[in-house]
Amino acid sequence: MAAKICEGKTKKVFAAENDGSKVIIFFKDDITAFNGKRHDIIPEKGAISAYISSAIFKLLNENGVKTHFIEYIPPNKMLAWKLNMIPLEIVCRNIATGSLLKRLPMLKKGERLKKPIIEFFYKSDELGDPLLNECHLEYIVNREAIEEMKQITLKANEILKKFFEELGFTLVDFKLEFGTTMQGELMIGDELTCDTMRLWINGESFDKDIYRRGGSPEDVLKAYRKVYEAIKERIELK
Ligand code: 5GP
Repeated sequence: MAAKICEGKTKKVFAAENDGSKVIIFFKDDITAFNGKRHDIIPEKGAISAYISSAIFKLLNENGVKTHFIEYIPPNKMLAWKLNMIPLEIVCRNIATGSLLKRLPMLKKGERLKKPIIEFFYKSDELGDPLLNECHLEYIVNREAIEEMKQITLKANEILKKFFEELGFTLVDFKLEFGTTMQGELMIGDELTCDTMRLWINGESFDKDIYRRGGSPEDVLKAYRKVYEAIKERIELK
């Protein structure tokens, strides 16, 4: 068994055998909310998330947006480039909802934004992922990297918005994490799944908000399966 590099709430990362530049990401069946205060195991969720993330990252890679994705390993793993992760969460929003409404109360829930809003948060469970401004950011990464992350996120948003629209979903918002390869190349890492993006059909959620609002594990699985089936129709992974 390959050596485990780290483990989070929903994933484990292992060293890829014979290649120090790659990792194997194992998607767990766990779901958590409110900083781990609510926790359940949903059989099949890991496989669904591994597929969704692999398919979306493949789509981005093929459209000129670099991600760490290399290969889907059925049913619940992904081969990826090993990254030195930047401790930031970059959120891109098309529609007003979630924590944005606390900062901009003049917006109505569900209102389309004039243009996408990008926000940076410091990744820290202990501090509750605080929002950062441009001055704060310079203590974490250089200006060029900030600008590059913004541009990559906006490009990913355009590709994903169109993709999900064609599948009948509205891409409300999503969260990205970035890292650099051993060669210093900046790319998207982590995951892009129903845990990390909001997808609506006529205002109804097909994402982790179901669980955040107290929905049952069965309701969560039903919604995640719908997204998975729709993606699978368009992107077949071997
Ligand atoms: P909000 O800031 O409105 O709570 O979240 C904005 C978007 O980023 C949502 O799609 C949400 O799922 C995602 N997001 C932000 N922070 C986190 C996080 O710590 N964990 C997960 N799974 N998603 C997050």
